[in-house]
Amino acid sequence: MIGPEERWRRHVPRHPSYRCRACGDDWPCRDARLALLIGFRGDRVGLMVYLGGHLTRALQQLPDVHPALLATRFLHWVPRSSVPHRR
Ligand SMILES: [Zn+2]
Repeated sequence: MIGPEERWRRHVPRHPSYRCRACGDDWPCRDARLALLIGFRGDRVGLMVYLGGHLTRALQQLPDVHPALLATRFLHWVPRSSVPHRR
């Protein structure tokens, strides 16, 4: 049986377009963000480092997109103080 986490795990970026493989939205799409928050389980710094790596790659792969837009898309959706913990 495929649980919700299994469904979210398919929401990974396609290269070099950086669109989601599962839904076609700009990555990280809604489901990908949810999966990341759950996957990092409150490790906000670890999540930011991970996303920063993706941002670096996206800046190289999407030279026509304004860097500020990419930074917003990759980093600014992360909650400021804490991410939800799952019990
Ligand atoms: Zn998606």
